[in-house]
Amino acid sequence: MYRIAVLSYHTSPLAPLGGAETGGLNVYVLELARELAERGHTVDIFTRRTNPDDPETVSISDAPSGDDAASGARVVHIDAGPARYVEKDALAAHVDAFEAGVAAFADREGATYDVLHSHYWLSGVAGERLKARWGVPHIAMFHTLGEVKARSRISEREPEPRIAAERAIARQADRIVVASRNERELLVRYYDADANRIAVVPCGVNLGMFQPIDKDEARKQLGLSDDDQILLFVGRIEPLKGVDILLGAAAQLESESDCFVLVIGGDRNARAGEMAHLRDLAAELGIAERVSFLGAVDHERLPLFYSAADICVVPSFYESFGLVALEAMACGTPVVASRVGGLSVAVRDGETGYLIPWRCPEPFAERLELLLGNDELRRAFGETARKEVERFRWGNVAEAVLGIYGEVIEGAPARGAVAFRN
Ligand code: UDP
Repeated sequence: MYRIAVLSYHTSPLAPLGGAETGGLNVYVLELARELAERGHTVDIFTRRTNPDDPETVSISDAPSGDDAASGARVVHIDAGPARYVEKDALAAHVDAFEAGVAAFADREGATYDVLHSHYWLSGVAGERLKARWGVPHIAMFHTLGEVKARSRISEREPEPRIAAERAIARQADRIVVASRNERELLVRYYDADANRIAVVPCGVNLGMFQPIDKDEARKQLGLSDDDQILLFVGRIEPLKGVDILLGAAAQLESESDCFVLVIGGDRNARAGEMAHLRDLAAELGIAERVSFLGAVDHERLPLFYSAADICVVPSFYESFGLVALEAMACGTPVVASRVGGLSVAVRDGETGYLIPWRCPEPFAERLELLLGNDELRRAFGETARKEVERFRWGNVAEAVLGIYGEVIEGAPARGAVAFRN
């Protein structure tokens, strides 16, 4: 059994989802820790304290969807910078304090670890330092890459220190885990990373939580009409997610009059102005009364929305994987997504939805029109989608990650492993 130190410095796996900086990474850290703990491993997830009242340690079995089998995994709050929300860009300044805090906690508790697993570049920086301090292997996951983000949408700028740090981590970490072959190629191309030390493990979905619910029943529970067609977006509200493309596409639909768009995500920390910009855009496009911005919705409630929707749309400019696509598919809902990153792995073009290679509304509108106009096709795509996501269960992700832990702990040569088909 392994003792695993997980670093999730900038955001906690227990934080509410759908905020400015709470999304797929948080779900990943929590679900993986749960699977590892259920297999008897111990997992300490270190995160920055953002609330002075948080106890030092919290078992993840206390999380909303937690269960006792996961009692071997806990979140450890470390003092680093002010005990409140701080924008990600200002967090590099407190990485030293975080690393020192993690080391002090381990000393105090007499805790030792077999492996370090860091999430996002800021945690990767702390991970490399703790690796040197403790002499244990370090596995890094970037989730997003500064260099790729900056190239994906003109408005995006990423600080040079981020890219430099990612470059150093890519060179030094024992393994880098990415969610798709495409991300491995990007790391090799833009960061000169060694392909053999990059393991590909697709992301997962909680098949117990995300299950199809009868559409009429889901709509009834949500107070939505049976007659309308519903396009759903779920995610953090930021330009890279391409909500503007979805709105543009919705405005072009011929069946426009009875088609509604639900946009889920966004909280008070969400990027200033982005929500206002999207509302203005909906008004400009003349579809304001058919677009509802619902704000963040509890993860456990999302199956109702996915099941109530006719199509889930994921129009991202950049997506390292895209858990939302898997969740919608698990609820039997077809997905129309950009052909980027892991979305091309999750969605099967023409079988479970459509993949759109261009980042503009017209091709999205064309595919949405086709699918909205054909009930039978949507039903068939939805059924195939549910079957297709079975292999993405978190248990499969955990087994693949455990294989990588085993390799680095035993010092086995890196072989650029690719986990279950992707
Ligand atoms: N999410 C949520 N409530 C919201 C918005 C998002 O629970 O209001 C969850 C969503 O279910 C998914 C995650 O946040 O699990 C977003 O992950 P994804 O990989 O799609 O995007 P990322 O945040 O990694 O860019």
